[in-house]
Amino acid sequence: MELESLRDLYVDELRDVYNAEKQILKALPRMAKKATHDELRSAFEEHITVTEEQVRRLETIFDDLGMPSRGKKCLGMEGLIAEGKEMMNEDAEPEVLDAALISAAQRVEHYEIAAYGTLRTYARQLGFENHAELLQRTLDEEGATDKLLSQIAESSVNLDAESAEYMD
Ligand code: FE
Ligand code: FE
Repeated sequence: MELESLRDLYVDELRDVYNAEKQILKALPRMAKKATHDELRSAFEEHITVTEEQVRRLETIFDDLGMPSRGKKCLGMEGLIAEGKEMMNEDAEPEVLDAALISAAQRVEHYEIAAYGTLRTYARQLGFENHAELLQRTLDEEGATDKLLSQIAESSVNLDAESAEYMD
């Protein structure tokens, strides 16, 4: 695809994040299954539902642009998920694995926060106020998830991971 204008770049990045969301949607059930900590598991499960809605918002935007909802392979998300998988395959204490899952998930959230912040700003610049509003909603959700993960890490998971070797 030729990038001749900000609008072209906007569409290109919409496709990237659309594919990124599809990738994380596939990875999340696996992450939930690996999580031991109850609150962490439900945070991942909850984020599946949230992500499905985020995918629908992107489809609404493609629709509004009169374009098919088509993704473009997001190499960034592919790399983040690959690193996460690598960690999940380590021989780790369950409490340490929970901390590692949070670390991987927060990298994903920060990647998405960067993508949606940029997209929201492009949408505003291009006069797509309705898109900007949808993208802002997603941006807020990714931010809230990031904060929730920090809170779970700091209030218990990291503490459990620190003392894991003494517990069994
Ligand atoms: Fe998302
Ligand atoms: Fe997310």
